[in-house]
Amino acid sequence: MAAITDILRAMEYGPSPESDEHVRAWLAAHRDGFGHFVGGRFLAPGALFDVNNPATGERIAGVTQGTAADVDAAVAAARKALPKWSGLSGDARARHLYALARHVQKRERFLAVLETIDNGKPIRESRDIDIPLVARHFYHHAGWASLAASEFPGHRPVGVCGQIIPWNFPLLMLAWKIAPALAAGNTVVLKPAEFTPLTAFAFAEICVEAGLPPGVVNIVAGDGTTGAALVAHDDVDKIAFTGSTEVGRAIRRATAGTGKKLSLELGGKSPFIVFDDADLDSAVEGVVDAIWFNQGEVCCAGSRLIAAESIAEKLHAKLRARMTHLRVGDPLDKSTDVGAIVAPVQLERIKRLVDQGEREGAKVWRAPGALPERGCFYPPTLVAGVEPASLLAREEIFGPVLVTMTFRTPDEAIALANNTRYGLAASVWTENVNRALEIAARVKAGVVWINSTNLFDAASGFGGYRESGFGREGGREGLAEYLVADAPKGKTNAKPAASPALTALPGQAPAPDADAIDRTAKLYIGGKQARPDSGYCYAVLDRKGAAVGLAGLGNRKDIRNAVEAASKASGWGAATAHNRAQALYYVAENLEARAAEFAARLTAMTGGSERRARQEVEAAVRRAFYYAGFADKYDGAVHATKTRFVTLAMNEPWGVVGLVCPDEAPLLGFVSLVMPAIAMGNCVVAVPSAAHPLSATDFYTVLDASDVPAGVVNIVTGDSAALAKVLADHEGVDALWWVGSAEGAKAVEAASAANLKATWTRQAPLDWRREEGREYLRRATQVKNIWTPYGE
Ligand code: NDP
Repeated sequence: MAAITDILRAMEYGPSPESDEHVRAWLAAHRDGFGHFVGGRFLAPGALFDVNNPATGERIAGVTQGTAADVDAAVAAARKALPKWSGLSGDARARHLYALARHVQKRERFLAVLETIDNGKPIRESRDIDIPLVARHFYHHAGWASLAASEFPGHRPVGVCGQIIPWNFPLLMLAWKIAPALAAGNTVVLKPAEFTPLTAFAFAEICVEAGLPPGVVNIVAGDGTTGAALVAHDDVDKIAFTGSTEVGRAIRRATAGTGKKLSLELGGKSPFIVFDDADLDSAVEGVVDAIWFNQGEVCCAGSRLIAAESIAEKLHAKLRARMTHLRVGDPLDKSTDVGAIVAPVQLERIKRLVDQGEREGAKVWRAPGALPERGCFYPPTLVAGVEPASLLAREEIFGPVLVTMTFRTPDEAIALANNTRYGLAASVWTENVNRALEIAARVKAGVVWINSTNLFDAASGFGGYRESGFGREGGREGLAEYLVADAPKGKTNAKPAASPALTALPGQAPAPDADAIDRTAKLYIGGKQARPDSGYCYAVLDRKGAAVGLAGLGNRKDIRNAVEAASKASGWGAATAHNRAQALYYVAENLEARAAEFAARLTAMTGGSERRARQEVEAAVRRAFYYAGFADKYDGAVHATKTRFVTLAMNEPWGVVGLVCPDEAPLLGFVSLVMPAIAMGNCVVAVPSAAHPLSATDFYTVLDASDVPAGVVNIVTGDSAALAKVLADHEGVDALWWVGSAEGAKAVEAASAANLKATWTRQAPLDWRREEGREYLRRATQVKNIWTPYGE
């Protein structure tokens, strides 16, 4: 027997296994396999695939592979259940959600053990983090069920939601998807990941036990083909997906033009920035939680350590020392820090990437210590000597592998942090609060943790910038993803204008009707009038086919120049909201002063009555005042998350927004899109109605007279569909709004899949008198949640 003094010296932990007895009994009871959960009951098992314990390799269950017919049955059950569920009072839905939360709590230990056996994550994490957060999510959203109607007036549930989740937090991702969907009055069909479907079936049992009405939650297991069938299903109104960026892109393409609402929570390569004044010991613990939590299989893992050069060596030495104490092994042992990688294929991927990085010259240091002989294990790993452009610095490894880089100045830290196609999360470590908040504001990420990392709460939104996807999960902003605004009451009698024949005329061609033409409208780029690169213009015709003017025929190069000008004007987003409001008031006043001129132009272009034209100008003036008023009032929030944290939800502008404007209200439509976008600090490239572009080109003289800085609004006339495609393809455009034909919407959404830009497509014609409100401001911003700790 070891002497007490030896034990104290070594401080070795003895084995402390969690019992898996109840889970084994449950699995034994399902030894014939799990069938899908549809319409409130479990279907007979069909063709099974194996589910294995990654820590041992042993087969633990057989689960039915979902077919297109299974998806069809589940969607039909969800559709059938929808009217009754969405018709329940908010309080009645809340009671159901509370019941689900309580049942999860009652089974907390069972679910934690099952999750650990299925996924390989340490029991300490499934027991203390995953499952408590699952219960918290249902409790939080029970509250939203009661409040949704009063807090989101004029909104209704989206309908039937298809939800596809990954294997890294199986039950937690299920809760993140199902709780808000149900709270808002939707019904769901959820596909769990092939590697980790078991807790979803345990949850289905909870739905039965808790008395959830049949069909409200349906679960169809299977692989990517099952997910693809759900995405493609005609009767699904929304897709919510968490997983890889590659599959997210495929889903964006598959849903293009279908009208399905979409939220994507995708990959990341999140920076963990340590300044020279940081508390290094805390930062080391932070790194442990950032990259060795859940074996690094975390979309928001802090996988790039960006440390101040002056403290980097010291920090790395402390880290290496800490890594030698991380215990890798049996996930069911309560003293295990790092469990098993989810599956052999993922282990192979990690090995392949690290080995390739090593061959490229990276210095790889793996924590010493023997790994278990069987099962999928990979040691905590620190990689130095990587260039920002190297494979390991760019690729999401999704394993316990940290790459390190150094910086000298805060600007360099930001440049490194933002040097990624992703933008999910970031951690900032410094004792200087001014610096922490400045970096938090400048880093492009949907979540920023100051002196902390990997914190989650149902009250806070979670989701990414750039190729980390769009949409948020959690909190008010997450609930909005499961609601749609009611269509404005009343019908529009507006008709879409006939597509003009954009016959290229040489810019200097004589006017077909010289009397009616006062000038050739130019493009407006970077605060200056610009001739179209093509050197051509087209005739703008009135209703009778007579030319009322000439407009520039913009092309790819003009859009490129406009995007460049818009990017350069990014100071607009950093200006105070008060200053932006003043500039917008000025725009409204200047437009009002020239109302008669604008009305005359509208009458000439559209052939409508003078009264109608005057009404359109008046409405445009009012709209400009409306968004000027909102410029400094569309506030963020402080979310009530954890004690000793202020979680700031900041509404940030996207950056450069492309706007493709409607034909049916050439001035009012244009103003209705431009004003909210710039009020929130975006710079825009607007493509006016191709049929009636001259109100928009007149508008630049209003902008010139109104102190709107050069580059904030850029106007490129021409073929709307062609220019929209260029905007959708452009990497420098962060968001794109399209109002027009359904085919145009489809093209825009499909093209935007390449860089996953957020799109907002609306089918014309719309009644522009009613198109106003917070939804425009919500669409003009993305929410960044900044977790700021206080206290010692
Ligand atoms: P995927 O994106 O492939 O899987 C996520 C979910 O989507 C799973 O349920 C999957 O089913 C399903 N799916 C796969 N293909 C399609 C499709 N064409 N249409 C609809 N649904 C589909 O991630 P993987 O599990 O394959 O992991 C691959 C890599 O992705 C990892 O190495 C990691 O880098 C990254 N990843 C990122 C996550 C994140 O949260 N950011 C989460 C998980 C992985 P099935 O399980 O059968 O494949």
